Amino acid sequence: MSTLLEARGVVGGYGSVVVVHGVDLEVRPGEVVALFGPNGAGKTTTLLSLCGAIPTLDGEVVFDGAPCHAPLHRRSRIGLGLVTEERCIFRQLTTAENLRVCNGDVELALALFPLLRTRMRVRAGLLSGGEQQMLALARALCRRPKLLMADELSLGLAPIVVENLLQAVRTASDSGIGVLLVEQHVRKALRYADRAYVMNRGHIMFHGT
Ligand code: ATP
Repeated sequence: MSTLLEARGVVGGYGSVVVVHGVDLEVRPGEVVALFGPNGAGKTTTLLSLCGAIPTLDGEVVFDGAPCHAPLHRRSRIGLGLVTEERCIFRQLTTAENLRVCNGDVELALALFPLLRTRMRVRAGLLSGGEQQMLALARALCRRPKLLMADELSLGLAPIVVENLLQAVRTASDSGIGVLLVEQHVRKALRYADRAYVMNRGHIMFHGT
């Protein structure tokens, strides 16, 4: 099967501070890949390096068959979706407006998260934490990205919401989207993931099904 995202020896960090040392990783279409590791292992830095939010210090990122050096906002135009723990929503806009401005398939968003249908006129800043994260994920997925990267989607959320979010990710991947998921809830995430990488101190220590 072709590879959607491939990291080859990616070195990532902040300025001259190297945090991630030569990460090799791949995600194929329709696959949910989890990235686990203890606090400070470098999971977020890996994701930020692979999505173009911070420049890579060495190595190569291949996205959809071509080496990719574009910054995050350009990668989003060629099929990358990113959701972080920080809830990527416009808090002053309503749920409906949030979905409209991302120019995606609103019905797909509502099919993934039917609860949002009842919250369409509510300002996003007034939604619960779980609803906000559903909206953030819905916004990313309704643009039908080729690849979704999600960093601690479930941080601080109730177990039922976590299941809901992970199930939506799985449903999206079943339609062909590749997913790279950083998650603290390892057991839960393993129920939805096809493969996992385990990271410590900036190195991939293990990977497998
Ligand atoms: P957590 O599970 O706690 O979120 P993580 O595995 O995602 O951890 P990172 O957030 O990538 O780990 O952090 C890895 C290392 O990079 C840590 O030592 C952290 O202090 C450092 N780091 C993170 N952000 C910055 C930054 N903006 N500038 C300098 N160092 C940073």
